[in-house]
Amino acid sequence: MNLVMNIDKRELLTDLSDLVRDDFPILRGDIRGQQLVYLDNAATTQKPLQVLDTIDRYYRQHNANVHRGVHTLSQEATDQFEEARRIVARYINASSESEIVFVRGCTEGVNLVASTYGRANIGKADEVLISAMEHHSNIVPWQMLCETVGARLRVIPMNEQGELLLDEYRSLLNDRTKIVALVHVSNSLGTVNPVKEVIEAAHERGIPVLLDGAQAMAHESVNVQELDVDFYTISGHKVFAPTGIGALYAKKNHLENMPPYHGGGEMIRSVTFEKTTYAEPPAKFEAGTPNISGAIALGAALSYVEKIGKERIAEWERELLRYGTERLSQVEGLKLIGTASRKASILSFTLDYAHSHDIGTILDGEGIAVRTGHHCTQPVMQFFGLSATTRASLALYNSKEDIDRLVEGLEKVKEIFA
Ligand code: PLP
Repeated sequence: MNLVMNIDKRELLTDLSDLVRDDFPILRGDIRGQQLVYLDNAATTQKPLQVLDTIDRYYRQHNANVHRGVHTLSQEATDQFEEARRIVARYINASSESEIVFVRGCTEGVNLVASTYGRANIGKADEVLISAMEHHSNIVPWQMLCETVGARLRVIPMNEQGELLLDEYRSLLNDRTKIVALVHVSNSLGTVNPVKEVIEAAHERGIPVLLDGAQAMAHESVNVQELDVDFYTISGHKVFAPTGIGALYAKKNHLENMPPYHGGGEMIRSVTFEKTTYAEPPAKFEAGTPNISGAIALGAALSYVEKIGKERIAEWERELLRYGTERLSQVEGLKLIGTASRKASILSFTLDYAHSHDIGTILDGEGIAVRTGHHCTQPVMQFFGLSATTRASLALYNSKEDIDRLVEGLEKVKEIFA
């Protein structure tokens, strides 16, 4: 019985890339005369027809500014924009769509929290706790805040596998810790952090937690209420939506108490030269004309993922990760960087006879797109004593054949360099 179920499951899994690939027109293309193999999904994902058509339809049929007009197009644009907010809230199980602020992406989400919540609640000699595996976007805004207010940035260490040291984390929490800001899934190591435990330990001391969800949204089921997380940043372009749109989830009480971020239209209740009063959240944090088509397309992208099924995608990616780890481990001179016991489908590696930029260039000649460099995580590279890695990051439309092509490409690198 078990065997039959496993076989059925495997067939279902094998089907997934076949099933969705046609939704992504760019994947049909050739690069340097070879069928494209796109393995740079942690940098940005490709966009399905469902998203492309939504943008096209919006500009052809509904384009107008939101929230201000009584005319039909403005109401249509507003309805679609606010529907997108409801979709984001549903996707991460926020208790209300008013807890969703549209921003440009994760970088802006973290900057918003550091500049508003941070400036209002973090002062001299206070501490901000981040981890050793943060993307620069979850380091620099906190450093800037610390410099401004005289606070101290502290770092949760990790081990050689790229796993957080939880005991060290607990001992770093103290009365001066005013926020913990942690990446949910590491973009350069693939580590899926034990965020529930991290949040519980922080909350025991009344410390709020921000999670950088850039890499998690396309691969993990995110449930902000179950996590009880205070702030969660979302990047649209990492989850099949366009660039320049993302969202910040924040608990209602935080949004109510935080001062605004940008000043301008849309975020006000009333303005006189003497005094301005602010709109209720989320409008309070959305000054100016928002990225309307982007938000609507983000809604379409998340609906697309929901339709395929988050668990089904996660299962397929687990299988790709298993297969990719196995195949890459057999490549001579290859070392995987990031071997945590819980990983997302990210394979960072070095080859002992070639620099990652050369690897990336040779692979590009074979039609294979990977990312090389420090992946905006220079402290991670410093920890491993490296200047760069080559990173293959997989998404639902990748297949085992894509991984085979990568391994063949690496054989070419070996022919040239070894
Ligand atoms: N955090 C992580 C872990 C990322 O991988 C990235 C992008 O690579 C970011 C933050 C920045 O996200 P965005 O491009 O939405 O600003």
